[in-house]
Amino acid sequence: MRTQTKPYFSLKDYFLSRYGKRVQKITVALPFTCPNRDGSKAWGGCTFCSEGSKPSMLDPEVPLRVQISQGIERARRKYGEDILFFVYYQSYTNTYADLETLKKVYDTALEFEGVVGIDVGTRPDCAPEEVLDLLAGYAEKGLEVWVEFGLQSANFETLKRINRAHGVSDFVDAVLRAKKRPLKVCAHIIIGLPHESREDVIETAKLLASLPIDGVKIHPLHVIKGTVMALQYERGEFETLSLKEYAELCADVIEILPENVVIHRVTGEVDEERLIAPDYCSPKRKNLVLQKVEEVLKKRGSHQGSNRKALNRVV
Ligand code: SF4
Repeated sequence: MRTQTKPYFSLKDYFLSRYGKRVQKITVALPFTCPNRDGSKAWGGCTFCSEGSKPSMLDPEVPLRVQISQGIERARRKYGEDILFFVYYQSYTNTYADLETLKKVYDTALEFEGVVGIDVGTRPDCAPEEVLDLLAGYAEKGLEVWVEFGLQSANFETLKRINRAHGVSDFVDAVLRAKKRPLKVCAHIIIGLPHESREDVIETAKLLASLPIDGVKIHPLHVIKGTVMALQYERGEFETLSLKEYAELCADVIEILPENVVIHRVTGEVDEERLIAPDYCSPKRKNLVLQKVEEVLKKRGSHQGSNRKALNRVV
């Protein structure tokens, strides 16, 4: 039976529905890079990206086995013994290596008791057939395998402006090819990108709703020290959204996404030392963002999938 405690299908509820217990993601960092940083696609990376979006407490130089076992120990101390795990390859581009290297890093997750899945963050232009086949092999053996593709926006002008160095078509192509296999696909989007309108955000949500994706991560744009976007922000080239504006747009997106799509996240945080703006993206305020998004949906009397008109799904 499906558990649903929020006006949207959260990842926590999805895991509870599927496994009957808490599933904790163990986030790891590999010593990889990204084709948008090393010159193979472009130099410098996406304008918002700091260290490949690596959480500050992770060190890619620490052996992967150590990172996983420490993450599992921490989760067991916090949530008790009766939990399961996903190993989440998060930072940089976790499909950007030769097949042998990739097999080794994904195989490492299988060595740990209680690991029921892996989650691999990557770019949509970094999903060649042989890598998707490798990942599908784990799914065929019973592991739950998610692939996370960053889209950020369905507006190609925005993608150029933020130096993504891929197009919307790369994303559509990667999703359709991944979904020919027993893989689950999660898309990342950012709300509040410079010079985007509400129509752009709605268009991005509509694109996701029209594709066979399984999950979405929705992030508010946050400006991190040391990034190109930090310089643009300091020069006054754009402003970040207020919490109210973000919550309204996030609710718009949730209302468009089909009810079966798992909403992995509706916030994004970075430690206060590195965060420039907005202040609601500090870890201390995470719950405030979650509350605000729910509050907006409740006030509107809406929920995930309730905007059926958006894609002519009116019955
Ligand atoms: S593709 Fe990902 S890792 Fe590479 S620069 Fe952009 S956000 Fe950073």
